[in-house]
Amino acid sequence: MKAAIHVGKERVEVREVSTPSLEKGECLVEVEACGICGSDRWWLSGDLTRDIQGHEISGTIAAVGEEVERWQVGDRVVVYAVIGCGECGPCKQGMDPYCLQGPKSVCGGFAEYTKVKERSLLPLDPSVDFVTGCLLTDNVGTPMRALARGKIPAGGVVAVWGLGPLGLVAVQGAKILGAGKVVALDPVPKRREVARSLGADIVLNPSSEDFENVVLRATGGYGVDLSLCTVRDDGVAEKAASIVRRNGWFVRRRIRDLRFWGLVLHEVGLCCKRGTCKKRAHQAWAYRHAHLPA
Ligand SMILES: [Zn+2]
Ligand SMILES: [Zn+2]
Repeated sequence: MKAAIHVGKERVEVREVSTPSLEKGECLVEVEACGICGSDRWWLSGDLTRDIQGHEISGTIAAVGEEVERWQVGDRVVVYAVIGCGECGPCKQGMDPYCLQGPKSVCGGFAEYTKVKERSLLPLDPSVDFVTGCLLTDNVGTPMRALARGKIPAGGVVAVWGLGPLGLVAVQGAKILGAGKVVALDPVPKRREVARSLGADIVLNPSSEDFENVVLRATGGYGVDLSLCTVRDDGVAEKAASIVRRNGWFVRRRIRDLRFWGLVLHEVGLCCKRGTCKKRAHQAWAYRHAHLPA
């Protein structure tokens, strides 16, 4: 089969390689489409070689190995890009990224065929074409999960920083998850135009427009309920964090302050608090009356 092989820094060559042979529990997928993720580009620009890249894969099952139970030749599938041991508690709940044995990433999509474990596969509905399908697990799944990880109150205001592929999904996803208003920010006019066409209510160029005032006006002076930053630049992230209302959510994949790296790695919610509030004080009062002697 043909495959795009990473042969060194910024160098990929299409070469003839042998088609993978299957082991127990594996399926051979004929690749129909494979997205190019930001992480593929970082990998490509580095010195490390990981043979065949590509983890946003859709395709058709071409062969099944021994003990494969759920799939047949001809099934349309997408490949979920992270796989765990399949045995531990998180894996059994379908949360492979939290595998206690250490999750592994699946790649090999820049080739005519790739082999994957049975449990890495998800069915692709016939109504969804392969190119759209290959984007579902990562390009769509990542921003949707980031938004869901924060909390969007019904009718709330969400800001999306960076309107690349992830940000444009987030604009639509925020509405799906209940946002009443989406503010989309990016210096590139074309991207802002697309965001507008996908449902963004306010589009801004954060480099040249007074985004803070616009956001304050749009939120009654409070700031947004959730600010999602898809941009790697720490300066942009600071701006993105600056417009969140009190008790709101700032969501970003990367926080480079290494003191918090452990929390980031385990997706522990980082919550800042100052003192109590009426609701919690009332709760404590009610608890005292119910449980403690006067
Ligand atoms: Zn990716
Ligand atoms: Zn596991």
